[in-house]
Amino acid sequence: MNCNIIKDLLPLYVDECCSEESAKLVAEHLAICQSCAQVYSQMCETVHPQKDTPKDVHLHRISNWKASFLQSVMLFVSFAIITLGVILEGSTPTGQTNGLWAVTLIVPATGHLLSLANWFFVRVYKSRKMFSFGSCIATLTITLLGYVWAIIHYAGEMVMSSPLVWCGVVLSAVLCVLSKVLSNQYALLLGRE
Ligand SMILES: [Zn+2]
Repeated sequence: MNCNIIKDLLPLYVDECCSEESAKLVAEHLAICQSCAQVYSQMCETVHPQKDTPKDVHLHRISNWKASFLQSVMLFVSFAIITLGVILEGSTPTGQTNGLWAVTLIVPATGHLLSLANWFFVRVYKSRKMFSFGSCIATLTITLLGYVWAIIHYAGEMVMSSPLVWCGVVLSAVLCVLSKVLSNQYALLLGRE
């Protein structure tokens, strides 16, 4: 088969518009002719730029799965910390160190848990950097509001001098940093620039 005839047929072949017979002829020729095969691959690039191969689709699916897994783990860890805080706070005798576990565990973990809602809006943000910064700010804001609530709620009863209170502050700071790092990782897995 003449290369010029094949080259005339190639645009139709790429667009899947030629007859089954012609398509078969072109395919057979492409298998043996290096020059036409090259023209064909260039045409494919132009007509279907960055068309996902099955392998790309598979990798994309794995990344999405990893992102969801990361979000689930953070949700579970935050919830576990809150549950632990509620149990410890509940078992504290009234009038002694009320609110200590709320400040140490419940407030920091709630700040992180609620900030995970921001992750659902990952596609709304212009960039990954802005998204991870937004996540960090959300964690910080909710945590600070939680502290305001705890101070008002437990006013006068809370033992502020306890070193455990400072553990809560440290935990909050760690969770804010973690929120930024992990939300960045989450956006990266979802292919955000
Ligand atoms: Zn040829």
